[in-house]
Amino acid sequence: VVRVRELRKSFGALRVLDGVDLDVARGEVVVVMGPSGSGKTTLIRCLNLLEQPESGTVEVCGTRIDCSAVPRRRTVRELRGRTAMVFQQFNLFPHLTALQNVMEGPVSVRRVPREQAARVGRALLERVGLGDKCDCYPAKLSGGQKQRVAIARALAMEPEVILFDEPTSALDPELHAEVLQVMRELAAEGMTMVVVTHETAFAREVADRVVFVDGGRVIEQGPPESFFGAPGHPRVRAFLRVVG
Ligand code: ATP
Repeated sequence: VVRVRELRKSFGALRVLDGVDLDVARGEVVVVMGPSGSGKTTLIRCLNLLEQPESGTVEVCGTRIDCSAVPRRRTVRELRGRTAMVFQQFNLFPHLTALQNVMEGPVSVRRVPREQAARVGRALLERVGLGDKCDCYPAKLSGGQKQRVAIARALAMEPEVILFDEPTSALDPELHAEVLQVMRELAAEGMTMVVVTHETAFAREVADRVVFVDGGRVIEQGPPESFFGAPGHPRVRAFLRVVG
């Protein structure tokens, strides 16, 4: 469902992505790892054009964008409609309750009637274990709860692919498990997911494939058994010695 070719992106003189190829199959969970600053966040932001790549192509479920030309607005909208993003810092609307946060996209972007959006929203909050927090504002929720609301909000848009940008790294360690559990369940249900994370235990258990980015390129990828068990590239071995 995702096909990225020769993706390049610079910020000023800094080349962050230097020809990235990435394929993600339907139902696949791909974990993206790599040293800090290697371009992981930029890569997944390019997948839904939150960052505009300089060149290369991005294709999600048949919607294809050639990044060297200015993309048509409609095509960008179509591509964004097929992806949803879960951010490190949750990015919830502080003035809306948990339920209103989840309803916002369907109501304002997809024109779903409010009652229907509320019904679906409640079911989604139930699904992430927050059925009793529908009317809470984000300020009253823990970080783990906020991130679970963000996941429910992503699901509300019925995406083909969910992009997770270090979803646990802003959380206290004791709150990681509840978020990872929700992600584990989504993976088991067959959701297509691209997850930037340093959580090696999660990657070992849940990933179908681990992709290692360094210096703006994918330098190694494979199923977790071989990625963690017998990494070929010395830079991957050095990284794994540090993160465990
Ligand atoms: P981390 O694990 O620390 O989050 P990362 O692999 O996700 O790192 P990116 O966030 O993609 O890396 O950043 C790659 C490089 O691009 C970094 O050097 C960063 O400072 C730079 N960068 C990212 N976004 C911008 C921006 N909007 N403007 C300028 N430089 C940027």
